[in-house]
Amino acid sequence: MTFNDLKLIPQILKALAQENYTTPTPIQEKAIPAVLSGRDLLGCAQTGTGKTAAFSLPIIQLLTEKAGNQSGKRRVRSLILTPTRELAIQIADNIEAYSRFTGLRNVPIVGGVPQKPQEQALAQGADIVIATPGRLIDLINQQHIDLQHVEIVVLDEADRMLDMGFIHDVRRIIGKLPTKRQTLFFSATMPPEIADLVKSLLKDPVKVEI
Ligand code: AMP
Repeated sequence: MTFNDLKLIPQILKALAQENYTTPTPIQEKAIPAVLSGRDLLGCAQTGTGKTAAFSLPIIQLLTEKAGNQSGKRRVRSLILTPTRELAIQIADNIEAYSRFTGLRNVPIVGGVPQKPQEQALAQGADIVIATPGRLIDLINQQHIDLQHVEIVVLDEADRMLDMGFIHDVRRIIGKLPTKRQTLFFSATMPPEIADLVKSLLKDPVKVEI
């Protein structure tokens, strides 16, 4: 199996070649076609399995193939929620590399650093936002970000977001998104509160376990 077999667009294949990725990992083989087909996804996978590319590559492809708002400003079309600043920055760096030939713009939104540059980055327009929940809630409350045009949301490491006390924030953020959307959900474990969240957020998901 090659990335070519996964029907990825030339702009992405070129970026993957630059990254020296030759073969998709097992989770990528299973998740990429499911996400490209528009299905919701429930992934049980740890970091180190290639999970980030498994959700990022099809998101980049879907957003590139379906043009966004032609007439004006970029709108946030994909939101990725992740528990820590380090993970958010790592995901943003990966997406930057994978999308370098597509013209998409991504912005990381994390706590523990000044907020103003993030407000400015959002004002310049972003297609993909990678965020930790606390800072994102602040920016939502202060109306620096509009999530009404989000087409695809990712909950990454949902069990860790629960452990870190973010579940209330996550539910509030999801409540700001359109109900008609694609939802991708990753969790290494499935405690009852996570199972409840899965039940309320995912519609007939494809399940991928690694
Ligand atoms: P992740 O599980 O998403 O944190 O990815 C773990 C590491 O594997 C990261 O450093 C990625 O850049 C790398 N990686 C992901 N997919 C592939 C692949 N198909 N081939 C080679 N390296 C990869």
